[in-house]
Amino acid sequence: MKVTALAGGIGGSRFLRGVRAALPDADITVIGNTGDDITLHGLRICPDLDTVMYTLGGGISAERGWGREAETFVVAEELAAYGVGPAWFGLGDRDLATHLVRTQMLDAGHPLSDVVAALCVRWAPGVRLLPMSDQRVETHVIISDEQGQRAIHFQEWWLRLRAATPATSIVPLGAEKATPAPGVLDALADADVVLLPPSNPVVSIGTILAVPGIREAVAKTSAPVVGVSPIIGGAAVRGMADACLTAIGVETSAQAVGQHYGGRGRTGGAATGLLDGWLVDPVDAATIVPGAAVAARPLLMTDLAETTAIVRAALELAGV
Ligand code: GDP
Ligand code: CA
Repeated sequence: MKVTALAGGIGGSRFLRGVRAALPDADITVIGNTGDDITLHGLRICPDLDTVMYTLGGGISAERGWGREAETFVVAEELAAYGVGPAWFGLGDRDLATHLVRTQMLDAGHPLSDVVAALCVRWAPGVRLLPMSDQRVETHVIISDEQGQRAIHFQEWWLRLRAATPATSIVPLGAEKATPAPGVLDALADADVVLLPPSNPVVSIGTILAVPGIREAVAKTSAPVVGVSPIIGGAAVRGMADACLTAIGVETSAQAVGQHYGGRGRTGGAATGLLDGWLVDPVDAATIVPGAAVAARPLLMTDLAETTAIVRAALELAGV
């Protein structure tokens, strides 16, 4: 069975551990978000791709959910002693090695997709991890504060401002000129099932879908497409996804996010959206997404067994 999933960082990678456990023999392709990527201290950093790689490769900090286990922050402390920021980005010593390897390879002319493949040789994540694009896309957030209206990098809004300053809009800069990385469109066209994990619908899944060709490939794949709600009972389970949804005018509810993705309507009605199935938590069981089947089961990814059961429910909804 060929499974293709779009994924952000923490929510996506937790879900992917369940996909791997539910389908140990499947050929799993992950299309990762690169909109969170940032260059700091001359190093190219890809937080979401690394979170997937470390989580599936057994190197993630279980406590933090991002970055490496047994991490130290000596280099970050030394930079701070020089007064060199930004202090809001957690740059661990072990993690730095990944950014050094990546930056060297990119500077030598290798495309990001080759770099990710090379890094994954070490981590053996058990999935084929593809960046959504080899071209740079960086999510920026338009905010208004005492300095007036301005655009800041998504990471600054998310980490320094904790998304507390309302965003007027969220823009994946460069997306319109980007092309899907090699293998991305084929992985969507050839899949037996396409999964949208409970990742941030705006800055993770939304950014991947903003690369021209990817949304269309999800919409027209012959495989069933099933999404899992990142919103339970009107709240983002972890993190501040509600601030992102507010910025694009979507209510923080399982139903609003399902309707934002839209049903494919293959069972009748207009086919305009992406979903054949939308899995929600029992508290959201009344959810309606025209053109998609809705099913409910508890959606808290508390441990691997529970996450695997969530994945099985998504596969059942997909009919595979
Ligand atoms: P990020 O890039 O690290 O922010 O991670 P993702 O975009 O992949 O996922 C973040 C989203 O995961 C959050 O906005 C939450 O809504 C969602 N999430 C986190 N934990 C859970 C969980 O246990 N269950 C569900 N349904 N969603 C979750
Ligand atoms: Ca992210």
